[in-house]
Amino acid sequence: MRFAVLGTGIVGRTLAGKLSSLGHEVVIGTRDPAATLARQELDAAGNPPIAGWLAEHPAVRLVPYAEAGAFAEAYVNATSGSGSVPALEAVGAANLAGRIVIDVANPLDFSQGFPPSLNPVNTDSLAETIQRAFPEARLVKALNTMSAHLMVNPSALPGPHSVFVSGDDADAKKTVTDLLVSIGWLAEEVYDLGDVTSARGSEMLLPIWLRLYGSLGHADFNFHIQQAPARQL
Ligand code: NAP
Repeated sequence: MRFAVLGTGIVGRTLAGKLSSLGHEVVIGTRDPAATLARQELDAAGNPPIAGWLAEHPAVRLVPYAEAGAFAEAYVNATSGSGSVPALEAVGAANLAGRIVIDVANPLDFSQGFPPSLNPVNTDSLAETIQRAFPEARLVKALNTMSAHLMVNPSALPGPHSVFVSGDDADAKKTVTDLLVSIGWLAEEVYDLGDVTSARGSEMLLPIWLRLYGSLGHADFNFHIQQAPARQL
């Protein structure tokens, strides 16, 4: 499948690399490729600029959002929460119509420092904001509740652990679930939370994820839904 991964941070490049390794055609979308390639500083999380990563992944091209829109059959939104709608606007509503958008972004608001707050939250979510802005896109919220490394390396943790999907389109959620399984997730650990409003739940896991990150001092952990055996399908 032809994927456009929107976002040049650690999440975008990690997912782009995995999708490419699985045989998909992948581009990474950014606002201004020349400016992105010219970066030399580490990002806020200490990740190196993307130019070195691209040199090691020649099959993945860095393109402007609009070109990513013209290329792709499916999208991954790995932009910042506040940048998500602008990025998707640049991709183009017509390009998104009828296409799956896997939304891994979180509506983190760092304007008051760390830890960030969520905006929107509780009675709304970033996923719903995107779905409202692009009603013809087939949005599936997924993978937003663990580190980028674990998104594509679930076996890096011993034992089962869980990933959540939300969205209005059942077929799109099935396609994304199959993709998650191809990445290495156990099918029984993919929890369908419900329609797009259920993304409020997975997005609202971020405050506890961030507090765990602070108290544990690392990101090598994930949530696991433990059910009584009689309740398991
Ligand atoms: P990030 O720093 O949150 O986002 C970087 C990307 O956002 C860049 O590609 C940037 O575009 C784009 N962007 C920012 N403002 C924009 C705007 N106004 N218009 C268009 N694009 C804009 O990157 P990240 O740390 O990889 O995280 C990506 C998303 O995944 C976030 O929503 C984050 O909350 C979520 N997430 C992160 C992790 C993790 O392990 N870090 C885990 C789960 C979920 P340019 O390329 O043009 O600069």
